[in-house]
Amino acid sequence: MKVPVIDISDCTLCAGCYEMYPELFRLNDAGYIEAVASECYSEVDVNDAIKYCPQDCIHWEEV
Ligand code: SF4
Repeated sequence: MKVPVIDISDCTLCAGCYEMYPELFRLNDAGYIEAVASECYSEVDVNDAIKYCPQDCIHWEEV
């Protein structure tokens, strides 16, 4: 299964991903972006978030 992963070392917390796709990404208690746990991620929406992340720090990972 593919899941979206955020490289938090490059993330500037611009909020773009979780404002655009709150069902996919959220700010966790530690103050970092993370993917919302899901059984199945929308490939189209994640690819959009990847495309629009200004830091290129969202990518797919096979788990
Ligand atoms: S769009 Fe990219 S840089 Fe902006 S908060 Fe999301 S992961 Fe971080």
